[in-house]
Amino acid sequence: RALPGDPETRIFPRQVQAALWSAVEPTPVEAPRLLAHSREMAAELGFSEADLVSPEFARVFGGNTLLPGMQPFATNYGGHQFGHWAGQLGDGRAISLGEAILPDGQRRELQLKGAGPTPYSRSADGRAVLRSSIREFLCSEAMHHLGIPTTRALSLVGTGEGVVRDMFYDGHPQLEAGAIVCRVAPSFLRFGHFELPAMRGDIELLRRLADFCIARDFPHLQGHGEALYADWFAEVCERTARLVAGWMRVGFVHGVLNTDNLSILGLAIDYGPYGWIDAYDPDWTPNTTDAAGRRYRFGWQPRVAYWNLGQLARALSPLFADPAPLQTGLERFAAIYTAADRDNTARKLGLAECRDRDVDLLRDLHALLQTHEVDMTLWFRALADIEPARPSLAPLEDAFYDADKRVAGEPAFDDWLARYATRLNEDPLVADERRARMHAANPNYVLRNWLAQEAIDRADAGDMAGIGELLEVMRRPYDDQPGQERFAGKRPDWAKDKAGCSML
Ligand code: AMP
Ligand code: MG
Ligand code: MG
Repeated sequence: RALPGDPETRIFPRQVQAALWSAVEPTPVEAPRLLAHSREMAAELGFSEADLVSPEFARVFGGNTLLPGMQPFATNYGGHQFGHWAGQLGDGRAISLGEAILPDGQRRELQLKGAGPTPYSRSADGRAVLRSSIREFLCSEAMHHLGIPTTRALSLVGTGEGVVRDMFYDGHPQLEAGAIVCRVAPSFLRFGHFELPAMRGDIELLRRLADFCIARDFPHLQGHGEALYADWFAEVCERTARLVAGWMRVGFVHGVLNTDNLSILGLAIDYGPYGWIDAYDPDWTPNTTDAAGRRYRFGWQPRVAYWNLGQLARALSPLFADPAPLQTGLERFAAIYTAADRDNTARKLGLAECRDRDVDLLRDLHALLQTHEVDMTLWFRALADIEPARPSLAPLEDAFYDADKRVAGEPAFDDWLARYATRLNEDPLVADERRARMHAANPNYVLRNWLAQEAIDRADAGDMAGIGELLEVMRRPYDDQPGQERFAGKRPDWAKDKAGCSML
């Protein structure tokens, strides 16, 4: 067993040159206990109900033992954080156990987050607290069920150990419950994995990584010959555009879109201080450390993703004799994002297709929602109840946070609804089709910050059942689930100015 900090075992923080990963074992924990799991992930990986309840399962996914064939490692990456090159970062608290090969040949990498120090831990402890682990576990699965590409979560294991975090009380650091999430994805490669060797001028290593990534994660591109790297970069741009368009549709704000938190596969990854839009506000960010610049606000996600792709293009440029295809790839991002955004517009408004003026219609609506403090999710869900013959604000009243602002906004909303009704009357969809189309694009249930917080508060009091109850609802976000209406409820007053969560 490697002991953290033991020079013999080489788990000490360091610059790792000329290598993409380091072998490292998880550090065992006191009392691993399975607190929650994803039944879909367990089934996909071939774990039975009996496996899940066995102490062995908690030991493996708490980092206390390895299954045969597991060869744990932590990977080396860099990144641009808040727009600035940050040098080597790496898996400071993530340890991959290996890859599972599914019956159909697909690969699933299993990665423990919070399993102890690695060579990339810098000054931190390699651990994760229960509260942020609950958030990552729930949001990974909620995002998947919303139909948006994401890393998944197999398990949430409590460690039985305290973690020191800088929440001071009476002048003393607080001990918080620790936990470990097992994340699952075909690959955890990030933009930053490519940036680090490029920034260090290690073009040989960069090329090996690119070739490995294409062979493993983009096998359909093999045979593209001269155009291989160009087609690969274009596909990364396209996937990133689709990912961000998905977030904008459902009101998700990632909160830390640093280049080390963008997946080369276009998956949502690293659920830290994320949040969901309650009252519509493109300027909102859940990231309290980004309060001044608000670089990572909701409405900026498309441009930040584009900026990040620009950094990736810069990193990959040594692989290109002619840089033109990198520019073409970036243009592809813009084209795909614009098309996806128009598709969102049509689907959210229940139109068969998006005309140019529909873009204005939605933009004007967004301005009204922002001015009058209207819940994004509730509004779009209830918009399906508008009757084109008799448009009225009545079905939408519950989406307002402030009755005074609703009354003040009524004339403007009535005007907008009249325009909308006129547009619906020109549209070929019949009522049932429109409703179904809108319900499939406008979720009823999203992992609102207050819902996650409620599950966390219950867990802190020893009641883990709230995690599973919430996950159960989030498994069918586009359905109306009788009896579960409170999970679709708007943010209560107590949660108003609470940010997502601290990053640790
Ligand atoms: P994040 O902001 O969560 O994407 O993390 C940025 C970097 O900090 C990554 O390299 C993480 O591995 C590292 N990191 C964050 N928290 C910890 C921790 N508790 N221990 C070690 N490394 C950490
Ligand atoms: Mg990260
Ligand atoms: Mg993180």
